[in-house]
Amino acid sequence: MAREDHLVISSGKAVQPFHYAVGLYGSKFFHELKEHRRIVGVKCGKCGKVYVPPRRVCNACFEENKEWVEVGPQGEIGSFTIVRYAFIDPETGVQRPVPYGYGFIRFDGADTLFQHFVELSDERPLKIGARVEPVFADEMKATIRDIRYFRML
Ligand SMILES: [Zn+2]
Repeated sequence: MAREDHLVISSGKAVQPFHYAVGLYGSKFFHELKEHRRIVGVKCGKCGKVYVPPRRVCNACFEENKEWVEVGPQGEIGSFTIVRYAFIDPETGVQRPVPYGYGFIRFDGADTLFQHFVELSDERPLKIGARVEPVFADEMKATIRDIRYFRML
């Protein structure tokens, strides 16, 4: 079988008739994002680790994280990749244009990495440690798409 035979190309929209609950901490995160364009996380009361996105229990010392903190909105690229393989975006049901950047962002004041799209630029290639900021959607809907992507400063 030729290598090309493994590639299936489809057009049109894919219907995804399901929803999921983001939980108490995810709800607060998206509420703050939508209503105030603020990035919030939680801080462990024992070790001080700040989680963004927020998680209820610290994975280092198993304490319940109860202190909400605002971080960013700027941060830096902790890691990244450039996606060049076309595929159907499960969030939109249509093929996402390639290439695009996908990064792991550490918001200022956070200890964990936050995954999202990163704008590619011919003039300034992505690099670890590059300063970035989120570009917000015009219409906020309390979803991860409220941040369209991150751009380098
Ligand atoms: Zn901790």
